[in-house]
Amino acid sequence: MTTQAWHGGELRWNAETEDWTVLAPGRRTRPHSAAGAACPFCPGTEDTPPETWRLPGDGSPWRVRAVPNRYALSDKHEIVIESPRHGWDLATGTEAEVADVLSAWQHRHRALRPAAAQVVVFRNHGLAAGISLAHPHSQVAGLPVLSAGTRRELESARVHHRDHGRRLADEQLEAALSEGKRVVFADDHVVAYTPFAPIAAYEVRILPHRARPDFATANTEEIHATARCLRAVLAALRAELGDPAYNIVVRTAPGGYETAPFLAWSLQLVPRLEIPAGLELATDVPVTTVSPEHAAARLRTLVGSAEAR
Ligand SMILES: [Zn+2]
Repeated sequence: MTTQAWHGGELRWNAETEDWTVLAPGRRTRPHSAAGAACPFCPGTEDTPPETWRLPGDGSPWRVRAVPNRYALSDKHEIVIESPRHGWDLATGTEAEVADVLSAWQHRHRALRPAAAQVVVFRNHGLAAGISLAHPHSQVAGLPVLSAGTRRELESARVHHRDHGRRLADEQLEAALSEGKRVVFADDHVVAYTPFAPIAAYEVRILPHRARPDFATANTEEIHATARCLRAVLAALRAELGDPAYNIVVRTAPGGYETAPFLAWSLQLVPRLEIPAGLELATDVPVTTVSPEHAAARLRTLVGSAEAR
């Protein structure tokens, strides 16, 4: 029985799956949005631990700020409050505002990683994606261990690069571009496409044509292009599915792999339309009812019509 003490909880090793389980009883008491309750993230009614970082505003105290998560998964777990505006959203914000959020993710990733094996950056949207407070926010958490999924992905990327002399991510991107049917959006800087074998309906990957391993090193031009693409894809998803719940995860190099030649960062957008059931539990094999070719065709049309307006 392997356990590891952790901030506010415990990590337990599952020998069957060779993965960790996080026991975080403190998170049971985290607040959920209640009608009429003051928002802890809104200017004027703030109720958070002292902030760790801010992007100063133009006429307002801040544009984006980071605060420690009071209901932390680890001792390095922060909330990125994405806007002072309670009703703001990534899908409807300006390109500059979305780019501010992405650069906040880069900054906090860099700040938290010296003390972590892996820093995860994620955004939950909607109840089915695990949201507990409505004010637009994302999260950055440093974990003391590598998950089984991360270890597996590192290994397949490393082996592919060794055996084929090129990155798996580049090969997948090129396949999507040459085939065309799974491309949602592409310009000179970035591509959005649906994976050949998605883990969920309407899953989308967004990345620069030549992504570096480490998201935190993406330059301003790449961040702005990614922001432009992300908001267009989210707006298309909204038009297609009516504000679905989703998770966004930054796929990036874990600690020590920041310059690994076999890795490329990307944003992974996973709508939560279907509830995993027995088959997924029994096999770990995702089942999705929408083909990535169909999802891309729908989203491509919607992104195109939004760009034309
Ligand atoms: Zn608020």
